[in-house]
Amino acid sequence: MQMYDELQKKYLTERSLQQALENNSFELFYQPQYNITDKKLIGYEALMRLKEEDGSYASTQELINVAERSGLIIKIDCWVLKNALIQMKPIVLANPELELSVNVSGRHLPRDSFLSEISLFLKETGFPAKNLKIEVTESSFIRHMKKAVDIVNGLKNIGVKVALDDFGTGYSSLNYLSEIPVDCLKIDKSFADGIASSTKDRKFIDVIIKLAHMMDCKVVCEGVEKEDQISILKELGCDSVQGFVWGRPLPLEKLTLY
Ligand code: C2E
Ligand code: MG
Ligand code: MG
Repeated sequence: MQMYDELQKKYLTERSLQQALENNSFELFYQPQYNITDKKLIGYEALMRLKEEDGSYASTQELINVAERSGLIIKIDCWVLKNALIQMKPIVLANPELELSVNVSGRHLPRDSFLSEISLFLKETGFPAKNLKIEVTESSFIRHMKKAVDIVNGLKNIGVKVALDDFGTGYSSLNYLSEIPVDCLKIDKSFADGIASSTKDRKFIDVIIKLAHMMDCKVVCEGVEKEDQISILKELGCDSVQGFVWGRPLPLEKLTLY
């Protein structure tokens, strides 16, 4: 029975994703990222949202999991990328120091057309490439290592930056890391959670920050919920912060630009 329920749920979710693509009914929220030293706004991460029939938002992580398994993620990511570029263009033109981060699934990495699609979206929307950062999870990067390195180099050639998302959960060995030409590491929330209570997590973050800086890579800590975490991250030399403590994801019309 339980298996039947799960299949039914997956089927319904897949159908609502398909319908949302057809009806253009996905929404975008943007979560601010701040410089840790002076709390200056440095950019936003676009996060996909979908309203349920009762008006509440479905869990994005659950939607993404189903989309990944069904392959719908390819179309969804393209929708998100294009619409985020359109929505944020006026903001980055008026505030050229701000960056827009967009998540893409690892499923794009082996696709030959991925780079040309991004170039096309940039051209069509007129969004400046230097203001765009693509986030790929560390685990999918490792899964497609060779292709991923090519893609990162290709993105760099067109002026787009790359971040490794959920860093610390993908088990990259340290010698791998020195070969990955990314601009930014996003330390996963699970390490941020333990930073005030666990010496091990604090040491891990310390080493990652040092290593990242040796490679000229910036470090963002994700999912930071309390000020005491911020003071520790600041001591450790972390560059920036994204978390509920300084800003939740919000729709475009509610962004404050500070
Ligand atoms: P992510 O890319 O690591 O994004 C950060 C997630 O952490 C977001 O969840 C955000 O709302 C949440 N978060 C940020 N700060 C805090 C905090 O202080 N506390 C807590 N508890 N949570 C915090 P969200 O929006 O539910 O998205 C979940 C994941 O879904 C994202 O994780 C990303 O992997 C994926 N995702 C979202 N939008 C897209 C998309 O357009 N394409 C793809 N491929 N994946 C997406
Ligand atoms: Mg992300
Ligand atoms: Mg993450």
